[in-house]
Amino acid sequence: MVLMKQGDNEYPGIKIGLEIHCQLTGLQSKLFCSCFCNYHGLEPNGNICPICCGLPGTLPLLNKTAVESACMVSLALDCKIPDNITFYRKNYFYPDLPKNFQLTQYNAYGITSIGVGGSLKYGEKTSRIRRIQLEEDPGRLVYESGGIDFSSSYTLIDYNRAGISLVEIVTEPDFTDPKDVRVFLNKITSIIEHLGVCNTKRQGSVRCDANISIQGGKRVEIKNVGSFKEVEKALNYEIARQKTMSMHDIKVLAETRDWDDARKVTKQSRAKEEEQDYRYFPEPDIPTILLGEEYVSSIRKKMPELPYERKNRFIAYYELSDHISQVLIDNKELADFFESAVKIYSSPKEIANWIVTELLRYTDDDITEAKIDSSSIPNQSSSLFAGLKIDPNQIAELAILIDRNTINRNTAKIILTQIIKTGEMPSQVLARTDVLKIEDKIIISEAVESVFKAEKSAIRDAKNNPNVANFLLGKVMKLTKGRADPKITLNLIKTKLDGLD
Ligand SMILES: [Zn+2]
Repeated sequence: MVLMKQGDNEYPGIKIGLEIHCQLTGLQSKLFCSCFCNYHGLEPNGNICPICCGLPGTLPLLNKTAVESACMVSLALDCKIPDNITFYRKNYFYPDLPKNFQLTQYNAYGITSIGVGGSLKYGEKTSRIRRIQLEEDPGRLVYESGGIDFSSSYTLIDYNRAGISLVEIVTEPDFTDPKDVRVFLNKITSIIEHLGVCNTKRQGSVRCDANISIQGGKRVEIKNVGSFKEVEKALNYEIARQKTMSMHDIKVLAETRDWDDARKVTKQSRAKEEEQDYRYFPEPDIPTILLGEEYVSSIRKKMPELPYERKNRFIAYYELSDHISQVLIDNKELADFFESAVKIYSSPKEIANWIVTELLRYTDDDITEAKIDSSSIPNQSSSLFAGLKIDPNQIAELAILIDRNTINRNTAKIILTQIIKTGEMPSQVLARTDVLKIEDKIIISEAVESVFKAEKSAIRDAKNNPNVANFLLGKVMKLTKGRADPKITLNLIKTKLDGLD
Protein backbone atom coordinates (compact mmCIF):
# COMPACT_ATOMS: atom_id res chain seq x y z
CA MET A 1 0.00 0.00 0.00
CA VAL A 2 1.28 3.43 -0.86
CA LEU A 3 0.69 5.97 1.83
CA MET A 4 -0.09 9.40 0.55
CA LYS A 5 0.88 12.65 2.10
CA GLN A 6 -1.75 15.32 2.39
CA GLY A 7 -1.90 17.52 -0.68
CA ASP A 8 -0.35 14.73 -2.73
CA ASN A 9 -3.39 14.47 -4.94
CA GLU A 10 -1.99 16.40 -7.84
CA TYR A 11 -2.21 13.39 -10.07
CA PRO A 12 -3.20 13.90 -13.70
CA GLY A 13 -6.68 13.00 -14.71
CA ILE A 14 -8.43 12.48 -11.38
CA LYS A 15 -12.17 12.55 -12.00
CA ILE A 16 -14.60 12.34 -9.13
CA GLY A 17 -18.36 12.43 -9.42
CA LEU A 18 -20.95 12.26 -6.65
CA GLU A 19 -24.40 10.85 -6.09
CA ILE A 20 -25.94 12.47 -3.07
CA HIS A 21 -29.17 11.10 -1.61
CA CYS A 22 -31.21 13.41 0.59
CA GLN A 23 -34.34 12.20 2.34
CA LEU A 24 -37.18 14.70 2.23
CA THR A 25 -37.69 14.60 5.98
CA GLY A 26 -39.99 17.63 6.00
CA LEU A 27 -42.90 15.70 4.48
CA GLN A 28 -45.83 14.10 6.30
CA SER A 29 -45.92 10.84 4.36
CA LYS A 30 -43.93 8.57 2.05
CA LEU A 31 -43.52 9.25 -1.67
CA PHE A 32 -46.35 7.05 -2.95
CA CYS A 33 -48.46 6.13 0.10
CA SER A 34 -49.70 7.61 3.37
CA CYS A 35 -47.24 5.84 5.73
CA PHE A 36 -45.29 8.20 8.01
CA CYS A 37 -42.35 10.02 6.55
CA ASN A 38 -40.43 9.76 9.82
CA TYR A 39 -39.66 6.08 10.30
CA HIS A 40 -37.23 6.55 13.18
CA GLY A 41 -38.10 5.12 16.56
CA LEU A 42 -40.93 2.98 15.21
CA GLU A 43 -41.14 -0.73 15.66
CA PRO A 44 -39.50 -2.56 12.72
CA ASN A 45 -42.00 -3.05 9.87
CA GLY A 46 -44.58 -1.00 11.78
CA ASN A 47 -44.61 1.77 9.16
CA ILE A 48 -45.65 -0.15 6.07
CA CYS A 49 -48.75 -0.66 3.94
CA PRO A 50 -49.66 -2.71 0.86
CA ILE A 51 -48.47 0.13 -1.43
CA CYS A 52 -44.92 0.53 -0.10
CA CYS A 53 -44.66 -3.25 0.16
CA GLY A 54 -45.65 -3.53 -3.48
CA LEU A 55 -48.49 -5.98 -2.97
CA PRO A 56 -50.37 -6.93 -6.14
CA GLY A 57 -53.32 -4.73 -7.00
CA THR A 58 -52.03 -1.59 -5.25
CA LEU A 59 -51.46 1.71 -7.02
CA PRO A 60 -48.94 4.39 -6.11
CA LEU A 61 -50.23 7.92 -5.47
CA LEU A 62 -47.57 10.59 -5.89
CA ASN A 63 -46.90 12.96 -2.95
CA LYS A 64 -47.43 16.49 -4.30
CA THR A 65 -45.26 18.16 -1.65
CA ALA A 66 -42.37 15.83 -2.50
CA VAL A 67 -42.49 17.14 -6.07
CA GLU A 68 -42.46 20.72 -4.74
CA SER A 69 -39.47 19.99 -2.49
CA ALA A 70 -37.52 18.33 -5.31
CA CYS A 71 -38.35 21.29 -7.48
CA MET A 72 -36.95 23.66 -4.84
CA VAL A 73 -33.72 21.68 -4.59
CA SER A 74 -33.43 21.78 -8.38
CA LEU A 75 -33.98 25.53 -8.50
CA ALA A 76 -31.51 26.13 -5.67
CA LEU A 77 -28.89 24.26 -7.69
CA ASP A 78 -29.66 26.21 -10.83
CA CYS A 79 -31.22 23.30 -12.68
CA LYS A 80 -33.73 23.52 -15.49
CA ILE A 81 -37.16 22.08 -14.65
CA PRO A 82 -38.80 20.24 -17.54
CA ASP A 83 -42.44 20.89 -18.48
CA ASN A 84 -43.39 17.37 -17.50
CA ILE A 85 -41.91 14.49 -15.57
CA THR A 86 -42.44 10.74 -15.41
CA PHE A 87 -41.32 7.89 -13.22
CA TYR A 88 -39.43 4.76 -14.18
CA ARG A 89 -39.03 1.32 -12.71
CA LYS A 90 -35.43 0.47 -11.98
CA ASN A 91 -35.38 -3.31 -11.71
CA TYR A 92 -33.05 -5.14 -9.45
CA PHE A 93 -33.38 -8.00 -7.05
CA TYR A 94 -32.26 -7.26 -3.53
CA PRO A 95 -33.95 -8.00 -0.20
CA ASP A 96 -34.25 -4.30 0.74
CA LEU A 97 -36.57 -3.76 -2.23
CA PRO A 98 -39.99 -5.34 -1.57
CA LYS A 99 -41.24 -4.73 -5.13
CA ASN A 100 -38.04 -5.85 -6.85
CA PHE A 101 -37.96 -2.48 -8.52
CA GLN A 102 -37.39 1.05 -7.32
CA LEU A 103 -39.56 3.89 -8.56
CA THR A 104 -37.17 6.54 -9.77
CA GLN A 105 -36.64 8.93 -12.65
CA TYR A 106 -34.60 8.49 -15.77
CA ASN A 107 -33.52 10.64 -18.66
CA ALA A 108 -34.71 8.98 -21.85
CA TYR A 109 -37.03 9.50 -24.81
CA GLY A 110 -36.73 13.26 -24.49
CA ILE A 111 -38.11 13.21 -20.93
CA THR A 112 -35.87 14.17 -18.07
CA SER A 113 -35.89 13.96 -14.31
CA ILE A 114 -37.11 16.93 -12.27
CA GLY A 115 -33.83 18.88 -12.53
CA VAL A 116 -31.16 18.92 -15.23
CA GLY A 117 -28.03 20.87 -16.07
CA GLY A 118 -27.39 22.85 -12.90
CA SER A 119 -24.29 24.02 -11.11
CA LEU A 120 -23.05 24.97 -7.65
CA LYS A 121 -20.22 27.31 -6.82
CA TYR A 122 -18.13 26.47 -3.79
CA GLY A 123 -15.30 28.80 -2.92
CA GLU A 124 -13.57 29.68 -6.18
CA LYS A 125 -14.67 26.51 -7.93
CA THR A 126 -17.88 25.32 -9.56
CA SER A 127 -19.21 21.84 -10.06
CA ARG A 128 -21.86 21.01 -12.61
CA ILE A 129 -24.99 19.16 -11.57
CA ARG A 130 -25.96 16.57 -14.17
CA ARG A 131 -29.41 15.81 -12.88
CA ILE A 132 -31.68 15.76 -9.84
CA GLN A 133 -34.25 13.04 -9.50
CA LEU A 134 -37.04 12.12 -7.17
CA GLU A 135 -37.18 8.49 -6.08
CA GLU A 136 -38.08 6.16 -3.25
CA ASP A 137 -35.69 4.89 -0.59
CA PRO A 138 -35.34 1.13 -0.19
CA GLY A 139 -35.79 -0.64 3.16
CA ARG A 140 -33.01 -1.14 5.68
CA LEU A 141 -31.01 -4.29 6.15
CA VAL A 142 -29.85 -4.80 9.71
CA TYR A 143 -26.96 -7.20 9.99
CA GLU A 144 -26.59 -9.40 12.99
CA SER A 145 -23.22 -7.87 13.76
CA GLY A 146 -24.65 -4.33 13.81
CA GLY A 147 -22.61 -2.76 11.03
CA ILE A 148 -22.35 -3.67 7.39
CA ASP A 149 -20.98 -7.14 7.59
CA PHE A 150 -21.52 -9.79 4.99
CA SER A 151 -20.21 -12.44 7.32
CA SER A 152 -23.28 -12.15 9.59
CA SER A 153 -25.12 -15.43 9.87
CA TYR A 154 -28.50 -13.72 9.52
CA THR A 155 -29.86 -10.36 8.44
CA LEU A 156 -33.03 -8.57 9.50
CA ILE A 157 -35.09 -6.49 7.11
CA ASP A 158 -36.99 -3.38 8.13
CA TYR A 159 -39.25 -1.90 5.44
CA ASN A 160 -40.17 1.20 7.47
CA ARG A 161 -37.84 3.21 5.24
CA ALA A 162 -39.08 1.68 1.98
CA GLY A 163 -40.87 4.36 -0.01
CA ILE A 164 -39.45 7.39 1.83
CA SER A 165 -38.92 10.28 -0.61
CA LEU A 166 -35.37 10.80 -1.77
CA VAL A 167 -33.88 13.52 -3.88
CA GLU A 168 -30.81 12.27 -5.66
CA ILE A 169 -28.30 14.88 -6.80
CA VAL A 170 -25.90 13.60 -9.45
CA THR A 171 -22.88 15.73 -10.27
CA GLU A 172 -20.66 15.67 -13.34
CA PRO A 173 -17.21 14.17 -12.58
CA ASP A 174 -15.82 17.66 -12.03
CA PHE A 175 -13.91 17.12 -8.79
CA THR A 176 -10.19 16.51 -8.86
CA ASP A 177 -9.44 16.80 -5.14
CA PRO A 178 -11.17 14.87 -2.31
CA LYS A 179 -10.89 17.96 -0.11
CA ASP A 180 -13.16 19.86 -2.51
CA VAL A 181 -15.70 17.06 -2.29
CA ARG A 182 -16.06 17.62 1.44
CA VAL A 183 -16.49 21.37 1.01
CA PHE A 184 -19.09 20.76 -1.70
CA LEU A 185 -21.03 18.26 0.43
CA ASN A 186 -21.18 20.72 3.31
CA LYS A 187 -22.45 23.37 0.93
CA ILE A 188 -25.23 21.08 -0.34
CA THR A 189 -26.13 20.25 3.27
CA SER A 190 -26.50 23.91 4.16
CA ILE A 191 -28.72 24.50 1.10
CA ILE A 192 -31.16 21.67 1.80
CA GLU A 193 -31.27 22.69 5.48
CA HIS A 194 -32.12 26.25 4.51
CA LEU A 195 -34.80 25.03 2.10
CA GLY A 196 -36.30 23.17 5.06
CA VAL A 197 -36.71 20.02 2.98
CA CYS A 198 -34.21 17.85 4.84
CA ASN A 199 -33.14 17.67 8.43
CA THR A 200 -29.56 16.69 7.75
CA LYS A 201 -28.94 16.11 11.45
CA ARG A 202 -31.23 13.12 11.34
CA GLN A 203 -29.26 9.94 10.97
CA GLY A 204 -29.19 8.49 7.48
CA SER A 205 -30.90 11.51 5.93
CA VAL A 206 -27.95 12.43 3.70
CA ARG A 207 -25.86 9.74 2.04
CA CYS A 208 -23.16 10.03 -0.53
CA ASP A 209 -21.69 7.61 -3.06
CA ALA A 210 -18.64 8.70 -5.01
CA ASN A 211 -17.22 7.45 -8.27
CA ILE A 212 -13.60 7.95 -9.17
CA SER A 213 -11.28 7.21 -12.07
CA ILE A 214 -7.75 8.27 -12.79
CA GLN A 215 -6.10 8.86 -16.14
CA GLY A 216 -9.08 7.75 -18.15
CA GLY A 217 -9.16 4.38 -16.37
CA LYS A 218 -12.27 2.47 -15.30
CA ARG A 219 -14.70 4.04 -12.89
CA VAL A 220 -14.86 2.70 -9.35
CA GLU A 221 -17.87 3.47 -7.19
CA ILE A 222 -17.46 3.85 -3.43
CA LYS A 223 -20.50 3.15 -1.28
CA ASN A 224 -21.41 2.89 2.38
CA VAL A 225 -19.33 5.78 3.61
CA GLY A 226 -20.26 6.94 7.09
CA SER A 227 -19.58 10.70 7.03
CA PHE A 228 -18.36 13.47 4.76
CA LYS A 229 -14.97 13.29 6.43
CA GLU A 230 -14.84 9.58 5.60
CA VAL A 231 -15.82 10.32 1.98
CA GLU A 232 -12.67 12.42 1.74
CA LYS A 233 -10.59 9.63 3.32
CA ALA A 234 -12.10 6.92 1.11
CA LEU A 235 -11.34 8.97 -2.02
CA ASN A 236 -7.76 9.57 -0.92
CA TYR A 237 -7.37 5.87 -0.32
CA GLU A 238 -8.83 5.06 -3.74
CA ILE A 239 -6.49 7.51 -5.48
CA ALA A 240 -3.51 5.85 -3.80
CA ARG A 241 -4.79 2.37 -4.68
CA GLN A 242 -5.51 3.14 -8.32
CA LYS A 243 -2.26 5.06 -8.69
CA THR A 244 -0.26 2.11 -7.34
CA MET A 245 -2.09 -0.29 -9.64
CA SER A 246 -1.39 1.78 -12.71
CA MET A 247 2.29 2.09 -11.68
CA HIS A 248 2.46 -1.69 -11.75
CA ASP A 249 0.48 -1.99 -14.96
CA ILE A 250 -2.46 -3.62 -13.20
CA LYS A 251 -5.84 -2.77 -14.70
CA VAL A 252 -8.35 -1.05 -12.44
CA LEU A 253 -11.69 -2.86 -12.65
CA ALA A 254 -15.05 -1.17 -12.97
CA GLU A 255 -16.54 -2.19 -9.66
CA THR A 256 -18.38 -1.10 -6.56
CA ARG A 257 -16.28 -0.92 -3.43
CA ASP A 258 -17.41 -0.52 0.17
CA TRP A 259 -15.56 1.73 2.59
CA ASP A 260 -14.33 -0.24 5.57
CA ASP A 261 -14.54 2.35 8.29
CA ALA A 262 -12.54 0.35 10.83
CA ARG A 263 -9.63 -0.56 8.58
CA LYS A 264 -9.79 2.65 6.52
CA VAL A 265 -9.66 0.82 3.21
CA THR A 266 -12.07 0.23 0.35
CA LYS A 267 -12.89 -3.36 -0.47
CA GLN A 268 -14.64 -4.92 -3.41
CA SER A 269 -18.33 -5.51 -2.90
CA ARG A 270 -19.56 -6.42 -6.37
CA ALA A 271 -18.91 -5.94 -10.05
CA LYS A 272 -20.56 -2.75 -11.15
CA GLU A 273 -23.95 -3.06 -12.78
CA GLU A 274 -24.26 -1.50 -16.18
CA GLU A 275 -27.21 0.71 -16.91
CA GLN A 276 -28.86 -1.96 -19.11
CA ASP A 277 -28.81 -4.37 -16.15
CA TYR A 278 -31.54 -2.32 -14.54
CA ARG A 279 -33.99 -2.67 -17.44
CA TYR A 280 -35.49 0.75 -16.89
CA PHE A 281 -39.03 1.13 -18.18
CA PRO A 282 -41.72 3.76 -17.63
CA GLU A 283 -43.97 3.20 -14.62
CA PRO A 284 -47.38 2.50 -16.13
CA ASP A 285 -49.28 3.30 -12.91
CA ILE A 286 -48.19 6.94 -12.66
CA PRO A 287 -49.23 9.24 -15.49
CA THR A 288 -46.98 11.99 -16.81
CA ILE A 289 -47.01 14.95 -14.44
CA LEU A 290 -47.28 18.36 -16.06
CA LEU A 291 -45.29 21.08 -14.36
CA GLY A 292 -44.83 24.07 -16.66
CA GLU A 293 -43.61 27.64 -16.26
CA GLU A 294 -46.44 28.80 -14.05
CA TYR A 295 -45.86 25.96 -11.61
CA VAL A 296 -42.11 26.62 -11.49
CA SER A 297 -42.57 30.33 -10.84
CA SER A 298 -45.07 29.56 -8.05
CA ILE A 299 -42.43 27.33 -6.42
CA ARG A 300 -39.80 30.01 -6.90
CA LYS A 301 -42.00 32.43 -4.94
CA LYS A 302 -42.28 29.96 -2.07
CA MET A 303 -38.52 29.40 -1.80
CA PRO A 304 -37.07 30.29 1.60
CA GLU A 305 -33.90 32.35 1.88
CA LEU A 306 -30.93 30.43 0.48
CA PRO A 307 -27.51 30.34 2.18
CA TYR A 308 -25.89 32.77 -0.27
CA GLU A 309 -28.80 35.21 0.16
CA ARG A 310 -28.51 34.90 3.91
CA LYS A 311 -24.79 35.54 3.71
CA ASN A 312 -25.35 38.72 1.72
CA ARG A 313 -27.91 39.82 4.30
CA PHE A 314 -25.47 39.14 7.16
CA ILE A 315 -22.84 41.28 5.43
CA ALA A 316 -25.22 44.11 4.52
CA TYR A 317 -27.46 44.19 7.59
CA TYR A 318 -25.22 43.05 10.45
CA GLU A 319 -22.04 44.40 8.85
CA LEU A 320 -20.22 41.12 9.39
CA SER A 321 -17.14 40.20 7.39
CA ASP A 322 -17.35 37.92 4.40
CA HIS A 323 -15.45 35.20 6.27
CA ILE A 324 -17.51 35.30 9.47
CA SER A 325 -20.76 35.32 7.47
CA GLN A 326 -19.59 32.35 5.44
CA VAL A 327 -18.71 30.31 8.54
CA LEU A 328 -22.13 31.09 10.04
CA ILE A 329 -24.22 30.20 6.99
CA ASP A 330 -22.22 27.06 6.24
CA ASN A 331 -24.15 25.46 9.07
CA LYS A 332 -27.76 26.51 9.38
CA GLU A 333 -27.85 25.66 13.08
CA LEU A 334 -25.00 28.07 13.68
CA ALA A 335 -26.59 30.85 11.62
CA ASP A 336 -29.89 30.35 13.48
CA PHE A 337 -28.07 30.41 16.83
CA PHE A 338 -26.43 33.69 15.85
CA GLU A 339 -29.68 35.33 14.81
CA SER A 340 -31.44 34.20 17.99
CA ALA A 341 -28.66 35.70 20.13
CA VAL A 342 -28.75 38.95 18.17
CA LYS A 343 -32.51 39.20 18.75
CA ILE A 344 -31.86 39.07 22.49
CA TYR A 345 -29.07 41.61 22.42
CA SER A 346 -28.22 43.53 19.29
CA SER A 347 -24.45 43.38 19.13
CA PRO A 348 -23.95 41.35 15.96
CA LYS A 349 -20.21 41.71 15.56
CA GLU A 350 -19.41 40.81 19.16
CA ILE A 351 -21.82 37.86 19.14
CA ALA A 352 -20.65 36.55 15.75
CA ASN A 353 -17.05 36.68 16.94
CA TRP A 354 -17.88 34.78 20.08
CA ILE A 355 -19.64 32.09 18.13
CA VAL A 356 -17.10 31.71 15.34
CA THR A 357 -13.82 32.16 17.20
CA GLU A 358 -14.65 30.81 20.65
CA LEU A 359 -17.73 28.63 20.74
CA LEU A 360 -16.80 26.62 17.65
CA ARG A 361 -13.63 25.47 19.38
CA TYR A 362 -15.76 23.43 21.74
CA THR A 363 -18.02 21.80 19.16
CA ASP A 364 -17.29 18.39 17.84
CA ASP A 365 -15.86 18.66 14.35
CA ASP A 366 -17.57 15.45 13.34
CA ILE A 367 -20.95 16.81 14.33
CA THR A 368 -20.66 19.94 12.21
CA GLU A 369 -21.10 17.58 9.30
CA ALA A 370 -24.13 15.44 8.69
CA LYS A 371 -23.88 11.90 9.87
CA ILE A 372 -24.62 9.77 6.87
CA ASP A 373 -24.39 6.36 8.41
CA SER A 374 -27.61 4.64 7.50
CA SER A 375 -26.72 1.33 9.07
CA SER A 376 -26.48 2.27 12.71
CA ILE A 377 -29.22 2.89 15.21
CA PRO A 378 -31.75 5.42 13.95
CA ASN A 379 -33.62 8.08 15.86
CA GLN A 380 -30.59 10.07 16.85
CA SER A 381 -30.42 13.65 15.78
CA SER A 382 -26.97 15.09 16.21
CA SER A 383 -26.74 18.75 17.05
CA LEU A 384 -23.75 20.95 16.45
CA PHE A 385 -23.83 21.76 20.16
CA ALA A 386 -24.33 18.19 21.33
CA GLY A 387 -22.81 17.75 24.77
CA LEU A 388 -22.62 21.50 25.34
CA LYS A 389 -25.08 23.28 27.58
CA ILE A 390 -25.19 26.43 25.55
CA ASP A 391 -28.00 28.57 24.19
CA PRO A 392 -28.26 32.01 22.57
CA ASN A 393 -29.25 33.66 25.88
CA GLN A 394 -25.87 32.90 27.40
CA ILE A 395 -23.87 34.26 24.46
CA ALA A 396 -26.08 37.37 24.36
CA GLU A 397 -25.43 38.00 28.07
CA LEU A 398 -21.72 37.48 27.58
CA ALA A 399 -21.80 40.22 24.93
CA ILE A 400 -23.77 42.51 27.27
CA LEU A 401 -21.23 42.06 30.09
CA ILE A 402 -18.36 42.85 27.73
CA ASP A 403 -20.07 45.88 26.23
CA ARG A 404 -20.78 47.28 29.71
CA ASN A 405 -17.17 46.69 30.60
CA THR A 406 -18.21 44.50 33.51
CA ILE A 407 -15.77 41.89 32.32
CA ASN A 408 -13.00 41.86 29.76
CA ARG A 409 -12.66 39.32 26.99
CA ASN A 410 -10.22 37.11 28.87
CA THR A 411 -12.64 36.80 31.77
CA ALA A 412 -15.43 36.14 29.30
CA LYS A 413 -13.41 33.29 27.82
CA ILE A 414 -13.08 31.74 31.27
CA ILE A 415 -16.78 32.17 31.91
CA LEU A 416 -17.52 30.49 28.59
CA THR A 417 -15.48 27.42 29.50
CA GLN A 418 -17.70 27.07 32.57
CA ILE A 419 -21.16 27.86 31.22
CA ILE A 420 -20.86 25.36 28.36
CA LYS A 421 -20.44 22.68 31.01
CA THR A 422 -23.01 23.87 33.55
CA GLY A 423 -25.61 25.68 31.45
CA GLU A 424 -25.53 28.65 33.87
CA MET A 425 -25.90 32.25 32.78
CA PRO A 426 -22.61 34.22 32.70
CA SER A 427 -23.93 36.53 35.44
CA GLN A 428 -24.43 33.55 37.74
CA VAL A 429 -20.82 32.56 37.30
CA LEU A 430 -19.77 36.16 37.79
CA ALA A 431 -21.55 36.26 41.15
CA ARG A 432 -19.11 33.64 42.34
CA THR A 433 -16.07 35.75 41.49
CA ASP A 434 -13.53 33.59 43.23
CA VAL A 435 -14.25 30.94 40.65
CA LEU A 436 -12.95 33.41 38.20
CA LYS A 437 -9.44 33.66 39.54
CA ILE A 438 -7.21 33.52 36.49
CA GLU A 439 -4.64 30.82 36.94
CA ASP A 440 -3.90 30.22 33.30
CA LYS A 441 -0.27 31.22 32.74
CA ILE A 442 -0.84 32.02 29.08
CA ILE A 443 -3.63 34.46 29.87
CA ILE A 444 -1.65 36.07 32.71
CA SER A 445 1.44 36.30 30.52
CA GLU A 446 -0.57 38.22 27.94
CA ALA A 447 -1.62 40.70 30.63
CA VAL A 448 1.97 40.98 31.92
CA GLU A 449 3.15 41.55 28.38
CA SER A 450 0.79 44.45 27.80
CA VAL A 451 1.66 46.03 31.17
CA PHE A 452 5.37 45.80 30.27
CA LYS A 453 4.65 47.55 27.00
CA ALA A 454 2.70 50.33 28.71
CA GLU A 455 5.10 50.88 31.62
CA LYS A 456 8.40 51.32 29.81
CA SER A 457 9.84 53.99 32.12
CA ALA A 458 9.08 51.99 35.27
CA ILE A 459 10.83 49.01 33.76
CA ARG A 460 13.90 51.13 32.93
CA ASP A 461 14.06 51.98 36.67
CA ALA A 462 13.69 48.38 37.70
CA LYS A 463 17.35 47.87 38.58
CA ASN A 464 17.42 50.77 41.02
CA ASN A 465 13.92 50.37 42.38
CA PRO A 466 13.09 47.12 44.21
CA ASN A 467 9.38 48.06 44.29
CA VAL A 468 8.90 47.96 40.54
CA ALA A 469 7.78 44.32 40.60
CA ASN A 470 4.97 45.15 43.05
CA PHE A 471 4.03 48.24 41.07
CA LEU A 472 3.71 46.11 37.93
CA LEU A 473 1.73 43.50 39.85
CA GLY A 474 -0.76 46.20 40.77
CA LYS A 475 -1.10 47.16 37.12
CA VAL A 476 -1.71 43.56 36.05
CA MET A 477 -4.30 43.16 38.79
CA LYS A 478 -6.03 46.30 37.60
CA LEU A 479 -6.00 45.09 34.02
CA THR A 480 -7.45 41.72 34.94
CA LYS A 481 -10.00 43.30 37.27
CA GLY A 482 -8.31 41.71 40.25
CA ARG A 483 -8.69 38.18 38.95
CA ALA A 484 -5.15 37.19 38.09
CA ASP A 485 -3.59 34.88 40.64
CA PRO A 486 -1.11 37.25 42.39
CA LYS A 487 1.48 34.61 43.14
CA ILE A 488 1.70 33.34 39.58
CA THR A 489 1.62 36.90 38.29
CA LEU A 490 4.45 38.09 40.54
CA ASN A 491 6.59 35.12 39.51
CA LEU A 492 5.99 35.87 35.86
CA ILE A 493 6.87 39.54 36.38
CA LYS A 494 10.06 38.71 38.28
CA THR A 495 11.19 36.20 35.66
CA LYS A 496 10.53 38.73 32.95
CA LEU A 497 12.42 41.50 34.79
CA ASP A 498 15.36 39.16 35.35
CA GLY A 499 15.37 38.31 31.72
CA LEU A 500 15.79 41.99 30.81
CA ASP A 501 19.32 42.23 32.12
ZN1 LIG B 1 -46.91 2.63 2.85
